[in-house]
Amino acid sequence: MTKPTRSYWQKRFEMLEQAQHNKSASYYKDLEKAYIQTMQEMEKDISRWYQRFAKNNEISLDEAKRLLKSDELREFRWTVEEYIEYGKKNAINQQWMKQLENASSRVHISRLESLQLQLKQPVEKLYGGQIESFEQLVKETYQTQYYQTAFEVQKAFEIGFTLQALDETKLTKIISKPWTADGRTFSQKIWRDRNMLLDTLHTELIQSMARGEAPNRMISAITRKMNTSRSNAARLVMTESAFFSAAAQKDVYQELDVEHYEIIATLDHKTSSICQSMDGKVFKQEDFEPGVTANPFHPHCRSTTAPYFEDDYSERIARDLDGQTYYVSSNMKYEEWYQTQVEKHGERKIAIEKKKRNNKSSDKLQFEKTKEMIGKQGPNSLDAFQDLKYNNSNEWNLLNDYKKSRENNMISPYTSFDDYVLYKNRINNELIGITTADGTLIKAQSKHFIERLFGTNEDPHTKLARNGVSLEEIKEALLYGNVKERANQSRQYIGNTCEVSVNPETGNLIQVNPISSRRGQSETKKRGL
Ligand SMILES: [Zn+2]
Repeated sequence: MTKPTRSYWQKRFEMLEQAQHNKSASYYKDLEKAYIQTMQEMEKDISRWYQRFAKNNEISLDEAKRLLKSDELREFRWTVEEYIEYGKKNAINQQWMKQLENASSRVHISRLESLQLQLKQPVEKLYGGQIESFEQLVKETYQTQYYQTAFEVQKAFEIGFTLQALDETKLTKIISKPWTADGRTFSQKIWRDRNMLLDTLHTELIQSMARGEAPNRMISAITRKMNTSRSNAARLVMTESAFFSAAAQKDVYQELDVEHYEIIATLDHKTSSICQSMDGKVFKQEDFEPGVTANPFHPHCRSTTAPYFEDDYSERIARDLDGQTYYVSSNMKYEEWYQTQVEKHGERKIAIEKKKRNNKSSDKLQFEKTKEMIGKQGPNSLDAFQDLKYNNSNEWNLLNDYKKSRENNMISPYTSFDDYVLYKNRINNELIGITTADGTLIKAQSKHFIERLFGTNEDPHTKLARNGVSLEEIKEALLYGNVKERANQSRQYIGNTCEVSVNPETGNLIQVNPISSRRGQSETKKRGL
């Protein structure tokens, strides 16, 4: 085999990193499910407790502190016994087991304490298995990366090196070394997160009762805390496993005398700025320090390293704005690559795509809400919706105007978005540009004008239905109606069936009223409504 090219190393090691990354991500997916389950259990416990002790969904702190009655106490003890059973079978931490045993022997327990204890159980369950399984993940990550890195180097040089074998004791020793500035190992970090979560839950519970809030408020506050804890867990999983994956590479480079290594960032538009600037940098093996001269450079980092040997004319993989992969010279670094993207797509398009990516989840919600209102009309995919939004198109403005009018009930649900667009255009084509009875040129239309044209089933001010007016009636009033000067830059054109208000200086169509409904309005005014 000839000497492997630079791109060979880049490709192989990017793949190794990706496999590692995917493994951690799928581990985290399971953890996420456990979080959701925990939250559901807590929700059930809170609701049940409120049903039992609260009046009208509210309970004061004093009320909550009342002691359980003897039958309630008996029932509470059964629950505690169940928790103890579970703990024995599932090796839940000793501290919690002691607390449970204490609780089961106490003669007085308040309602509040009973709830606190019930909420702690799902959290203890959640964290119970976490440290062990996470330890397993990190060990596997290190081991896999260690052997595969060694395998790649050996294969490339067709030399059998002797490597130190990894056994369980050695792995345990490797992963028990703290590597972050705070000097904590990851199991200490998990433990700290658990304590933090329990503390905030405790505070939230009492404050929520002190404020006299309904249980759903408490549940949503707790959900927020759980979500924070969940994203901490995600960061921890991804960062710690990325660190130990890098540490394995470092150890192999050292053992196999790989003198230089190279940083490889992913060539796509999601790459962080720190990794963009580190891409292609070559370092000496003895300078390898994860987080400083090697990945991970930040949480969720996808960068990796590969052995570096002087070379050559080969290619590395890159991903275009639409996600398509293609190849560029392996000597090309991130910044140079990015420049080629700018030349191809332009800064504006790249910025828009970035916005689309970053705001995807909030945009999805907005898109779904919009769909609910306008049905099959308008943009038919999230992508089309985002295009409309970030290109700030005329249709996007129309969509927002339409939504506002609908929300305020200034037009009724019977007026579809398609009709709205159609009439917006018809007004532009058929009314704008005409010269009125007194020689005023119509130049523009207001948002209110089209609302008035359509009418509504229930006007927000009068609570009455308001009829719409046809384009023909409006045109008739403008061309042949009686002209009446009004205050505030408004001139009225009174036709047979409607009155149209125009700003004579700007030529803007302000509003239109059907004549019969206007009479109705003045009737209501007379009655002082
Ligand atoms: Zn990164």
